[in-house]
Order: sequence, then structure tokens, then C-alpha cells
Amino acid sequence: MKLIRQNRAPADADARKAIKPVICYPVDTLPKPDMRLYATARETLELIDTVIVEPRDASVFRVPAGHFFRIISVEGAQVGDLDLWAAGNLDERFYSGKTRALHGTHLSTGDRMWSGFPYLRPMATITWDTLDWYGFDADGGSVHDVIGTRCDPYTHHLLSGQDYHHCCHSNLTRALAAETGLTLQQTETHVHDVLNVFMCTGFTQDTHQYFMKASPVRPGDYLEFFAEIDLLGALSACPGGDCSAEHSSDTAACYPLKVEVYKPDQKALEGWCSPDSSGYSGGHGERPGC
Ligand SMILES: [Zn+2]
Repeated sequence: MKLIRQNRAPADADARKAIKPVICYPVDTLPKPDMRLYATARETLELIDTVIVEPRDASVFRVPAGHFFRIISVEGAQVGDLDLWAAGNLDERFYSGKTRALHGTHLSTGDRMWSGFPYLRPMATITWDTLDWYGFDADGGSVHDVIGTRCDPYTHHLLSGQDYHHCCHSNLTRALAAETGLTLQQTETHVHDVLNVFMCTGFTQDTHQYFMKASPVRPGDYLEFFAEIDLLGALSACPGGDCSAEHSSDTAACYPLKVEVYKPDQKALEGWCSPDSSGYSGGHGERPGC
């Protein structure tokens, strides 16, 4: 909210402001995940891979379509920044903004992480959230947001004039570069806005600014996903730790995060198939002769 208003309200301002909102994207026609099938499949899980993410660093992991993965809090309250790509195609990546438009500001069980254009398909579906009890608090805060972006050295430099090299953006860049063999500069363009796992955020009620507060996550809590397509993931253990005070520095207490990848009994997934990319024709109303 701006403190200085340059224009007087028109005579019918109250009437214009009193119009009731409508939901931008009613989700009645959104393809629904079969949560009962996922619930059955998750009873059959076999652990096949474990990846540790060190504090103020990031690690990559791979999850085949039809498998599950968990991001787990270990040792202490810690926030994680999650990027997802289609394995083998870095151009298809998580689209935080459209996911927010479809599912709201914070994600939980049953919500999906959608890829960007021209793909726009579910990359992963959240199947369990041990923090689902939190809901929204009195400040309007909740966990697992898609409203923040990722802490980055550019904004930090803009605001402080300082260089800091272990922001989530840089952590994700280093981890993806090591995985792909691309240079840091090439890799950086593939790093994108994240799902802020375990982070507790919202907008202040007076100034509508983005805020964070200490994450309610405790060791043993986890967020679980079903991989709808073959995934390459990268997770950064944010230098903000539980994000109770500041990020983009070495001040906060930071802890590792753990990623576990699980294979379900394939018989339990009967009837499920990996989603296709968007069915839009791609014509964009092209004019003849263009
Ligand atoms: Zn961060």
C-alpha cells in the first residue's frame, strides 16, 4: 500500500470497491489427482535413495515418474527452497506464479506443482504434509508458500551493497551446474522461483508487504510428493535457517535437510498414467503470411 496518494477518490469510489470478487481460476474443471490411489500406493513404499542437503548449500536429486519423494526436517527448524525440472529438459520447469493462481498462496496436500508454458502439466502432487495442522495463523501466515521467490545475491546487493554467495539462488545454481556440467552463468538462467518448503510467510495486514516468521517445522516433519513426470529436483537449505530473523547472511542457525525417494509397488498405481503436456494447439492466433 502506498503512503502517498496522488488522486482523490471519485464520487462512486465506495460502490466500485464494494463489488464482490470472483475467483480468477475456478478449479472445478481442473483435472483432479486421484488421492485415494496415491494413498494406497504410499502404503507400499520402498526407500531407494537418500540425499542430504547441507546447511547454506543445495543438492540435486532425481525422481522417476510414479515414485514419491519426501523433504524431511532433521536436526533443527530449517526452510528449504525447491526447484523442479523435467528430467532431460531444463526448459520445462516449475511455474510458481501459475501454481499460485490455481491453488492459492500456500500449498498442501492435494495441491500440485505445475510446469510453465507450453507444457503446463502437473509435475508433482503433494500427498502428505505433517504441517497441515498449521492452516493460517492470526498474522495471515501459513507454510509452504509460492508467493516468495528465492533469496538471491542481486536483491541482497541492491538493499545492502554487500555480496553474499550462499543465497538459495546461488546454492541452486552451483548444485545444478555440478549436475549438468553447464557453467554457472549458463545454469543460472534455469534456476527459477521456488516452492518455499516449511517457510512461514504471508502479507502484512496494514502494508501488505511480504513477511516471514519462524517456521513451525520440527525434526521429523516432512512434505511428501508424488512425481507425475520424471523429475530433476534441487533443494537449498536456506541461509535464513527457520527464517525467523534474516536471510542472505551467515547469522541464522542453519540445519541440513533430507530428501528421500521412494518406489511404490507398481500394482498399486494401476490406472495412473503420467500427464501429457497442454493440449493447446499453439497457434496463438497467427495471422496468415506471418
Ligand atoms: Zn533462501
